[in-house]
Amino acid sequence: MRTLWFRRAGSAAMISWTLAVVCSFAAAAETPSVDKPNLVVIFTDDLGYGDLGCYGSPTIRTPNLDRMAAEGLRFTDFYSAAEVCTPSRAALLTGRYPIRSGMCGNRRVLFPNSEGGLPPSEITIAEALKPLGYASAHIGKWHLGIHPGARPLDQGFDRSFGLPYSNDMDGRADLPRGASGSADPPRDGWNVPLLRDGEVVERPADQTTLTRRYTEEAVGLIRQWKDRPFFLYFAHTFPHVPLFASAEFKGKSPAGIYGDTVEEIDWSVGQVLDALRREGIAERTLVFFTSDNGPWLVMGDQGGSAGPFREGKGSTWEGGMRVPGIAWMPGRIRPGVTSELANAMDLFPTALRLAGGALPDSVAIDGVDLSPLLFEGKSLPQRPFFYYRGDQLFAARLGQWKAHFRTQPGYGPPKAEEHEPPMLFHLGRDPSEKRDVAAAHPEVIVQIRQAVAEHQSGVVPGKPQLK
Ligand code: MG
Repeated sequence: MRTLWFRRAGSAAMISWTLAVVCSFAAAAETPSVDKPNLVVIFTDDLGYGDLGCYGSPTIRTPNLDRMAAEGLRFTDFYSAAEVCTPSRAALLTGRYPIRSGMCGNRRVLFPNSEGGLPPSEITIAEALKPLGYASAHIGKWHLGIHPGARPLDQGFDRSFGLPYSNDMDGRADLPRGASGSADPPRDGWNVPLLRDGEVVERPADQTTLTRRYTEEAVGLIRQWKDRPFFLYFAHTFPHVPLFASAEFKGKSPAGIYGDTVEEIDWSVGQVLDALRREGIAERTLVFFTSDNGPWLVMGDQGGSAGPFREGKGSTWEGGMRVPGIAWMPGRIRPGVTSELANAMDLFPTALRLAGGALPDSVAIDGVDLSPLLFEGKSLPQRPFFYYRGDQLFAARLGQWKAHFRTQPGYGPPKAEEHEPPMLFHLGRDPSEKRDVAAAHPEVIVQIRQAVAEHQSGVVPGKPQLK
């Protein structure tokens, strides 16, 4: 597939890609399957590519994630579906670029005074799995809307425990400027509520204990649901600023409070995997760990690291969207490292394949089923990946090539810089996007333009929700 893509005309390649996806679903019976395996998605907030031991962090200690990666499949080329929080979450849960659901735009994310939210017409993983007999729980940050129709229990989840939006929203009126990015933020600085099944149980939420309480909730549900198929969407509040860690972790990491919160999340991952082992369901539970976007670099010491990649959260440079991705299912997933190109939207079709369901035919799905890669070590169909900022397509990747049609730092300058011809980088030889080689490879730009045109001709933008 890899070579074919480059030799064929764009449309033929797209047809072959579509056929490959269709055929891979038609061949469902050939994939060895465990009856209705569980799915646990552990989703961090603003964790960078370079913030875990198994991704090269020299200072943040993540023994549980390192072990998860050693026992599972670690992706080098895994992407969040957007450069910031709300669109990224909408895309993960629906398998669709956020442009299709309208969950993206100039305001970038939902705020407490936003009127929009994930439209009821969107089908989440929880909704797709429900008729197949799955119970679903959301734990942690939601950030997909607070109004009827958009809330967790309205979007297919049977249980929900966590924050309705980011932990830096709803700040106290007298909060000093920059408090959220402080190394020692005030505990009562933000009036963000903690909700259980839509009801406020604590306000302001005590953020120092959130990771521990989320983890207890997850472990409790695993125990309770061990005899039935379930989907657990565990979306951590941290390491999004303001950073809080429990007493056991605060002040312990060489990387400061940012490292403390990541090390506590690592502890949490260990607790979840231990619970799955203890209940005897590890072999029939796919756990996927990833992040919603890159590190929030403008937060300085309170922001993470994108490792070798350029820029961070908010941008469509690699640092904004290339994130850790680790799949774990002992005895089912071959341990290793893969450089296959994959992204968060792939979890939707992967979940449906695991559960033995079909993709909904009423909506366009942008992800592909990862199970041939996870369980059989096969290559995925070659396909382009599109980097959106808000509702604008800024860049596209095809194989190792990435073209930027527009660039803009994640935060700061209000206007994007247009590039005609686009900037072109070879991510294999130049992962840090330092050497623009557009002039030497006009034929690659033609291919990428074709892929973009194909994609855009099939996109019907959803009603904007982030006004
Ligand atoms: Mg985020």
